[in-house]
Amino acid sequence: MITLYNYINGTLVSARSGESISNVSPRDGKVFSLIPDSDHHDVEVAVEAAQAAFPTWKKTSAEDRCKILTRIADLIAVHQEKLVHAESLDNGKPLSVSSHVDIPRAESNMRFFASGAQHFASESHVMENGTVNYTYRKPIGVVGCISPWNLPLYLFTWKIAPALAAGNCVVAKPSEITPYTAFLFSEICIEAGLPAGVLNIVHGTGPKVGEAMVNHPAIKAISFTGGTATGKRIASILAPQFKKMSLELGGKNATIVFEDVDLEKTASAVSRAAFANQGQICLCGSRIFVQRGIYEAFKRMLVEKVSKMKVMDPMLPESKFGALVSEAHLEKVLSYITTAKEEGGTVLCGGQSPEMPEELRGGFYLLPTLIEGLSPSCRTNQEEIFGPVATLIPFDTEEEVIQYANGTVYGLAASLWTKDVSRAHRVAHQLETGICWINTWLNRDLRTPFGGVKQSGLGREGGWEAFRFFTEPQNICIDPSH
Ligand code: NDP
Repeated sequence: MITLYNYINGTLVSARSGESISNVSPRDGKVFSLIPDSDHHDVEVAVEAAQAAFPTWKKTSAEDRCKILTRIADLIAVHQEKLVHAESLDNGKPLSVSSHVDIPRAESNMRFFASGAQHFASESHVMENGTVNYTYRKPIGVVGCISPWNLPLYLFTWKIAPALAAGNCVVAKPSEITPYTAFLFSEICIEAGLPAGVLNIVHGTGPKVGEAMVNHPAIKAISFTGGTATGKRIASILAPQFKKMSLELGGKNATIVFEDVDLEKTASAVSRAAFANQGQICLCGSRIFVQRGIYEAFKRMLVEKVSKMKVMDPMLPESKFGALVSEAHLEKVLSYITTAKEEGGTVLCGGQSPEMPEELRGGFYLLPTLIEGLSPSCRTNQEEIFGPVATLIPFDTEEEVIQYANGTVYGLAASLWTKDVSRAHRVAHQLETGICWINTWLNRDLRTPFGGVKQSGLGREGGWEAFRFFTEPQNICIDPSH
């Protein structure tokens, strides 16, 4: 049994209460670690440590901040194998995904924002009469970062890195469901020599730890990634306190396939967009709209490809499709398949848990599932399922598909597949999303603004957007003639 600890004021400590939470591996449903069941007392100590560290950290030169964050990135690379193993064991994602996506991206996040610290600049405005305005961008102080379970270390570092690079001290909470790599990250921070209190990681549940952070008057800003319902609750607590917030929430993303595409290539890309990470990426294209002329041919090709995806032990190097994150989540996703059938949908492939070898029977596995025959307005096509379930819907015209794609409360991402460049731009401009990929999916440049519209979130992360969020601009105005 592995014991995980909080990382507070530079040291690894248990929860004040002495209580812990069992952490299950989705691979076999067995408890493999114990995490601190922290509460507001632990958050208080973490905030005090962060407050004490802030005066020195904010004065640390950008060059030195860059150096230490780069050292953390280097150590992620050194400990890559251990982190990859931990991420797959904790989350159920295949080793191939942890090793090619999650852990390399965590390293890139640290490196990218480390160098950003040295390049971030503010504006100045000179008026006709010679008056000079410059924008002084200050770190906010103590900020909170709360992240979800689907891309654990990837999203944890995506928030922490810019917050620290901009000169803030951080109290962070990973998902209680996937805490392992955040714990290993705290060991890396100690090894890298990050000064005590600059980053504090408090493990525990959302209602006990997350909410204590959101309510804490000394935490001046919250960067949150998670579900829309949680985001609404957090926003309702933060708004009356006038705290800065960045909310990256759920999605119900459209994949739009026009009839001029290369069927084979597009079917491969669309299946990846729907089922990567067992469909547990906020950007996954779970509503696949296909133009009528190619609908049947495209469907046949897609079903063939998806049926061949083999659900396997995530800890095998050849595994490409692992387990869902938890039993409760598996049940939620299965309940949506039942709903889809009740709504008149036809399951084209999948729809149930696969037979797994004896030692994995307690794990949380589900076959990748394609469903057709549903209206765009039914629950299955409106609510976020966040698992390996996608629907196929035919359309005739551009206008019609734009209406379908925009017809949900969400607005995170979309992907468009067509050889017609004019149409691609025309449709992209009309989609109510924060991100639109054309003939590609999850093609990320860390400099671009990342986030959603409508109920998919508030604000943008990435590049300078993240530095702007984690700093407070002050206008300084000087009259040189005085
Ligand atoms: P949740 O909203 O359940 O949880 C996200 C984080 O918030 C967890 O650390 C959780 O803690 C914590 N939390 C829960 N309740 C509270 C609360 N009352 N106050 C403060 N913190 C709280 O999301 P999931 O972890 O289930 O993640 C899946 C969701 O995340 C999906 O909806 C997905 O679309 C979205 N997501 C969005 C992304 C985006 O960039 N837009 C990217 C990735 C995911 P704990 O779980 O430990 O109790």
